[in-house]
Amino acid sequence: MSERRKFIKKSILGSAILVPGISGAFANSSKKELLGEKPLILSTWNHGLPANAAAISKLKETGSILDAVEAGVMDTELDMDNLSVGLQGLPDREGITTLDASIMTGDGSCGSVAFVRQVKHPISLARVVMEKTPHVMIVGEGARQLAISEGFPIEKEELSPKAKEAYEKWKVTSKYKPVINIENHDTIGMIGIDKNGQMAGSCTTSGLAYKMHGRVGDSPIIGAGLYVDNEVGAATATGLGETIIRVCGSFLIVELMRQGRTPQEACEEAVRRLVSKSKNIKDVQAGFLAINKEGQVGAYAIHPGFNFAQGTLSSNALIDSKSYF
Ligand code: ASP
Repeated sequence: MSERRKFIKKSILGSAILVPGISGAFANSSKKELLGEKPLILSTWNHGLPANAAAISKLKETGSILDAVEAGVMDTELDMDNLSVGLQGLPDREGITTLDASIMTGDGSCGSVAFVRQVKHPISLARVVMEKTPHVMIVGEGARQLAISEGFPIEKEELSPKAKEAYEKWKVTSKYKPVINIENHDTIGMIGIDKNGQMAGSCTTSGLAYKMHGRVGDSPIIGAGLYVDNEVGAATATGLGETIIRVCGSFLIVELMRQGRTPQEACEEAVRRLVSKSKNIKDVQAGFLAINKEGQVGAYAIHPGFNFAQGTLSSNALIDSKSYF
C-alpha cells in the first residue's frame, strides 16, 4: 500500500522525455517519442505499482530480468484484493477457479500453463515448463501433475471470501456478458528490459469471471497475451482474451515495431485491428502495453480506464493510457 500511496499520476506525455532526432527506424515518425531509461519495467493496472517494486527489487538482487518479471507478478498472484489473478480470483460458472500464465524471454524461450487448479503461482509453473520441459504449453490436470512433481504446494480448492460472495450473487441471475469494467479485467501483464537490452515478460490471470469451464484466454497464449523479442521489443495484453487471441495481439505489436512503428503506434494499430475484427466492441475492453529495445513505451486500449505502471531503478508511476473511444 505504501507504494500505491507514493505514486504520482501522470499523463502519458506528462512523464515523457522528448528525444529530438531519434535515428533509424523511428526517424520518420511524426510523433514525439518517449525514450525510457533502462532498466524499465511496465505492468498493467494499479497493481502494477507493487508488482514493479517487487520486480525492481528482484532485479537489484539477482540481476536477471527473467527473475524480475516472475517475482513481480508473483506479488499480484498473492494479492487478496485482486479478483482476476491468482487462486483468490473469481471462478468459472461452475464455481471453480482456474488459472492461466505465460513467461517469455527475448531469445525466444517461453513457457505457459492454462486451466490449472490449486497452484498459487502459475507463473512459476510456466517458468518450469519453459526451463525444464521440451514443451511450451501444459494445461489442466497435466499442469497440476507437473506442479506436484516439481514440489509446488497444492492448495485446498476453495473460493476466497470475496470471490465466494461475488459468485453467490452472480448465481442468482447467472447471466454471462462481458462488461467494460476495470474490476473484471485485472490480469497482470509485465514486460521489462534490463540495462543491457535483455527483455522478458510475464502474464498471469484467473481469466474472465464466470467463464465456461475449460475456457482459456489470451494470457497463456504466446503471441496473444505476451510476446518478447530482444531484436525488437515486447508486448503484453489485458482485457477480453477472445478479442486479443483473434488478432494475435502481442505478436502483432512486436511485428509492427519490427517494421518500424513505435511502441505507441504499434499498440494503436493493434487496437484498430482488434476493433475491426470484433463484434459488439462497445461492450468489451482490451488494452496493450509495449516497449521497444530503445526503451520507448506504448499503451493503448479500446475504452478509457486502462492504466499501467512504469518502473525504473528510481521511480514507479501510474500512467493513464489513451484509448480508441
Ligand atoms: N485477458 C484475460 C482473459 O481473457 C482477462 C483479463 O485481462 O482480465 O483471460
